Amino acid sequence: MSHLFYQGRGRKPVLDQARGVYMWDKDGKRYLDGSSGAMVCNIGHSNPNVLAAMQRQMEKSTFGYRLHFETEASEKLASKLAALAPGGLDKVFFVSGGSEAVESALKLARQYMNATGQGSRWKVISRQPSYHGSTLGALAVTGYTPLSAPFEPMLRQMPKIPAPRAYLDGRDPRDPASGHHYANMLASAIEAEGPETVAAFIVEPVGGASTGALVPPAGYMERIREICDRYGILMIADEVMTGAGRTGRFLGSDHWNARPDIIVMSKGLGAGYVPLGAMIADARLVEPVLDAGGFAHGYTYAGNPLACAAGLAVVEEIEGQALCANADRMGERLLARLRGLMQKHEVIGDVRGMGLLTAFELMSDRDSKAPLPKGLNAYQRLVDIAYDKGLIVYSRRTRDGIEGDHILVCPPLIVTDDHLDEIIEGLDAALSQFA
Ligand code: PLP
Repeated sequence: MSHLFYQGRGRKPVLDQARGVYMWDKDGKRYLDGSSGAMVCNIGHSNPNVLAAMQRQMEKSTFGYRLHFETEASEKLASKLAALAPGGLDKVFFVSGGSEAVESALKLARQYMNATGQGSRWKVISRQPSYHGSTLGALAVTGYTPLSAPFEPMLRQMPKIPAPRAYLDGRDPRDPASGHHYANMLASAIEAEGPETVAAFIVEPVGGASTGALVPPAGYMERIREICDRYGILMIADEVMTGAGRTGRFLGSDHWNARPDIIVMSKGLGAGYVPLGAMIADARLVEPVLDAGGFAHGYTYAGNPLACAAGLAVVEEIEGQALCANADRMGERLLARLRGLMQKHEVIGDVRGMGLLTAFELMSDRDSKAPLPKGLNAYQRLVDIAYDKGLIVYSRRTRDGIEGDHILVCPPLIVTDDHLDEIIEGLDAALSQFA
């Protein structure tokens, strides 16, 4: 009997070893990690340079509390992230995961408003569907009812605008009119709420688990930036999944001329070697908060030296192995291969993504975009079939409240053409069995 529990009762095989893009369970069965865990292990498993950096740090010190010491590792990683972030975003706050990073951004936005005489501004608008984490603050901006409904009395739900799912609405994602159409919904929401009450808008540059690699339509991010400026609200980019090279650039935000005020990262930053997250903020926000008495927020493990040493080594691997460029190149090939599968398998209704954040969506009718029948749990069935065949992919129900299924295919950024062949063969076999 196991004393562990997570979401349900299902037991999983016991993990024994993992190297590169492969993992092995205790029975010796091999899996190709086609989702990098939960889009985490961007540099692949057991990278020797990262392990060596962790070993060196552990031999020096394993913990130094942030109120007692700075550490070389946290200083260096902060400088590195400030250098990689858009100009002006050069204040870094470390945490241990994505939800903590989002909480930090919500609190910084609120404290900035207090510190600058705008105390009536506290609402953070977000999108439906979206995923920003599982702590109560992050859940209040998460647009995914099945996760938030049980906690409704404990939450202060924040206003939501529809995510820009042009493919479902019959709009052309390449047409800037589509991007403007969805972005203008932010202006309407701000007007409806009262601009003097709104502090920020939070957005996943490319949608992750909630919308399945949803790439914003042309013109969307730029118009969002314009609207935030027009109303004096902050733009928070949730790059927990898109950061650390996943979309083919170091940050997802690097694809658009729409510089956020705050960026949050996690997943690929620690790459599964350590729990690590970061908030990177514009100094213009941080300074008034520090002047007004300090940032009223923090975690015991913030800036943990082992986590920061590992994070620094991870970023050095991303740079040293040119993994953003590889994600860009392999992502294009993977998307083309997934479109090939779509020709063969009717059940695939849409293929989308950017870099190695790619997905396909299962539908019962491609033209009408009708979802698969309710209760089929098709996404889970397909993932389970692939898993049995030794291919790990990731899924979530896309359409809130309705049955709609997407499968994320997001291998580590070190993938080669041979790995792509293996992924596509595995998916093809799983889809054939599924039909
Ligand atoms: N934000 C986004 C965009 C995410 O994808 C996730 C996790 O999937 C989170 C926040 C929450 O991160 P964590 O699970 O590390 O708390």
